[in-house]
Amino acid sequence: NRVPNFSAGPATIPTAVLSRAQDELLDWQGSGMSVMEVSHRSKEYIAITEKAEAKLRSLMDIPDNYKVLFLQGGASLQFSAIPLNLLNSGRADYLTTGAWSGKAIKEADRYAKLGLGETNVVATGKESNFTDVPDQSEWQLSENAAYFHYCANETIHGLQIFEPPAVDAPIIVDMSSCILSQPIDVSKFGMIYAGAQKNIGPAGLIIVIIREDLLGQVSEWCPLLMNYEHQAEKESMSNTPATYSWYLAGLVFDWLEEQGGVAAIGKINQQKADLLYKTIDDSDFYNNPVAIKHRSIMNVPFTLADSSLDKVFLEESAAAGLMNLKGHRDVGGMRASIYNAVSLDWVQQLVDFMIAFEKKHA
Ligand code: PLP
Repeated sequence: NRVPNFSAGPATIPTAVLSRAQDELLDWQGSGMSVMEVSHRSKEYIAITEKAEAKLRSLMDIPDNYKVLFLQGGASLQFSAIPLNLLNSGRADYLTTGAWSGKAIKEADRYAKLGLGETNVVATGKESNFTDVPDQSEWQLSENAAYFHYCANETIHGLQIFEPPAVDAPIIVDMSSCILSQPIDVSKFGMIYAGAQKNIGPAGLIIVIIREDLLGQVSEWCPLLMNYEHQAEKESMSNTPATYSWYLAGLVFDWLEEQGGVAAIGKINQQKADLLYKTIDDSDFYNNPVAIKHRSIMNVPFTLADSSLDKVFLEESAAAGLMNLKGHRDVGGMRASIYNAVSLDWVQQLVDFMIAFEKKHA
């Protein structure tokens, strides 16, 4: 009875993963206990965390000189942790391409105001309503920036930057809504972070992948739990971690490996996105305003030519079993989030519905 769920997050989790978790819920590996009932310091639980990290390293081909942390507080807490760990009285560059990168700089500004360093917006896509990214030739990059921050996929605006920009500073990237969706070269980044609740598992977990040489510059003001060096030393167990979310993330990594890994899922993700964008572009009834080279393969916002039909679209799509298509209030219209666990078949069902809806109402 699982319905096509296009939620932007928390998002759908593969049914096979939830079934396995259900099988193991009351009696995990013959222990007579649930995973969520065992000590995070027990050797059985440590085995889960080690396996999850090893799987993620293998799926993303993470080089040995990167630490992988499984933390809490969501991606939003990293907006604070990044300047506290890395600004180090220097100047940090931020690219603004939508709501999430905008929030990241706002948070960093609070620490800059306290005298921890400076922040600099290199460019903003605001003039285009965040439908495009200003050309890099127009960016005001700082000399010797402590780091360069950007958001690889703006979940609300449906705008993706597929390749990291060529800048000298260590690149810090928010990949909350695109991690594991297609192959990337981790060695191009100083730090990658991502909340779990889209492509990794349940909310409550955040993954930080950080190059070792960036550790050790932390501000004295940084709360211990947000101190990456400390968390790396403690293997992400400075306090009780989000044990069940971490366990489920490991099951999602197993599932992804069974699908053929990131390259294989990346091909399906591209097919799903192509199918949806083609349906939108072939019609005068639907529209997506994002510059073609930046169209997200994970979050596809679209509007109806007649916005008075928005409510009807949502009612009829829900009646057809297609859930959570309402767009974010900042953008309006609809949004289909098509993360890894959304199948090509679900996207086909959505496209069939859209074509039928247009015929009925245009
Ligand atoms: N960054 C991006 C790209 C997101 O999509 C989100 C949430 O949807 C966040 C950051 C904030 O994540 P959290 O709610 O886990 O703090």
